[in-house]
Amino acid sequence: MNPEQHHHTLIIGAGPAGLFAGAVLKIPGALILEKKEQPGRKLMISGTGQCNYTHAGPAGDFLKHYGENGHFLKKAIAAFSNRDAVRFFNERGVPAVTDKNGKIFPASLKAGDILKTLTAACRNAGTGITTSAAVTAAEKYEDGFRVTAGGKVYTSRFLLIATGGLSYPSTGSTGDGYAFASRFGHNVAQPRPALCPVVISGYTFGGLQGVSIKNATITLIRNRRKIREHRGDTGFTRNGLTGPGIIDFSRFIEAGDILEIQLGNQDAASFEQDFLKTSAENGKTSILSFLKSAGFARSLAAHLLEEEKINPEKPLAEISKAQRKILVQKCCAYPFSVLHKEGFKTAMATAGGVSLTEVNPSSMESLLVPGLFFAGEVLDIDGDTGGYNIQAAFSSAWLAADAIHARLLKKEHGG
Ligand SMILES: Cc1cc2nc3c(=O)[nH]c(=O)nc-3n(C[C@H](O)[C@H](O)[C@H](O)COP(=O)(O)OP(=O)(O)OC[C@H]3O[C@@H](n4cnc5c(N)ncnc54)[C@H](O)[C@@H]3O)c2cc1C
Repeated sequence: MNPEQHHHTLIIGAGPAGLFAGAVLKIPGALILEKKEQPGRKLMISGTGQCNYTHAGPAGDFLKHYGENGHFLKKAIAAFSNRDAVRFFNERGVPAVTDKNGKIFPASLKAGDILKTLTAACRNAGTGITTSAAVTAAEKYEDGFRVTAGGKVYTSRFLLIATGGLSYPSTGSTGDGYAFASRFGHNVAQPRPALCPVVISGYTFGGLQGVSIKNATITLIRNRRKIREHRGDTGFTRNGLTGPGIIDFSRFIEAGDILEIQLGNQDAASFEQDFLKTSAENGKTSILSFLKSAGFARSLAAHLLEEEKINPEKPLAEISKAQRKILVQKCCAYPFSVLHKEGFKTAMATAGGVSLTEVNPSSMESLLVPGLFFAGEVLDIDGDTGGYNIQAAFSSAWLAADAIHARLLKKEHGG
């Protein structure tokens, strides 16, 4: 089959990673191949359409927000930080706004402004974008690559795989990059839904949808052992738990785990102490009033009492020791048994992906196939909510583009 088009670089995927690489590649002639009819479908729904593209604070803090694999991004974030991202868009007429939690958005709160800026920057850089061009094959070819997309064949010296993960497959992220990477000999850590709510077995809190606990302590128990602990706002859904506390923690959660949640703002010891003190000093206080004064929403307190068949008006002094013990346990470490995590359809990110031990963290180049690069969520990296994922896509893409640029220059100068 005769190649129809040659480009110095082919980029598979027009998400934040692919578009940003195309935008900052300083030598014209690269081409992005995107399977959807439009670029950046997921970018457009990010941050509920407002695009929380990065987070404020020192760049060093970023690495703590990518679970155990954060260290891999150290060089990428140092090379292109959150401040660089804000500057990049600001210089192109898109100022930023930071919310009280440090999340950074375009001031217009329109994801479309970020997308427009990226596509315009690609145009200015001389990077083409071909849409409705699903790549079906990518292979080594002479000293470069051969890629088949939309019935056409393209060749290139460099290939950047920026196909994203598996979450929200309707946006085009269907895991194709994992298959390409495997064919190039790369290992792929089992992709799993991340940043997703969890479904709870024997769940009784469905009537509390919308109720949320501020900065709850969540303890992950597996095989009766405490695995880790996390704090964050936690809310109830129709069939389980959500909120930033659960969503950011979900990369660690598996079916069968127990999540012990502190539903109030006290640990068991101080809650029980308060209980006994109030009971001794003012035994007529109803149990419902006591729970409300301990910071529980009325609906949550009423639900817990109903579960234990305790009349909400029952005076504290009449609560039996056995009832008190069970209330202390439920209020301070309610055990929710995880049936499963919600799937890729609703997960905001994918944990797992192209194994980081086979990719150079200074350039995002494959350590197995020279000239092959990866950027964005296709890698075994997933960040917390708050702008960390899009920043990771930009920073990894920056390194890849920079390395490709240096290699192209070397060739021009006879290197
Ligand atoms: C609902 C939702 C909200 C989110 N909000 C935020 C947020 O506010 N802040 C944040 O930081 N992160 C957010 N994220 C996560 C963030 O959007 C992703 O981490 C980020 O888009 C990943 O960028 P990427 O370029 O690596 O991959 P993607 O954005 O997934 O882009 C990959 C592109 O590759 C294309 N592609 C795939 N296979 C092929 C193929 N075979 N041929 C050609 N093209 C292909 C896809 O169509 C897609 O356009 C959100 C995610 C979701 C689902």
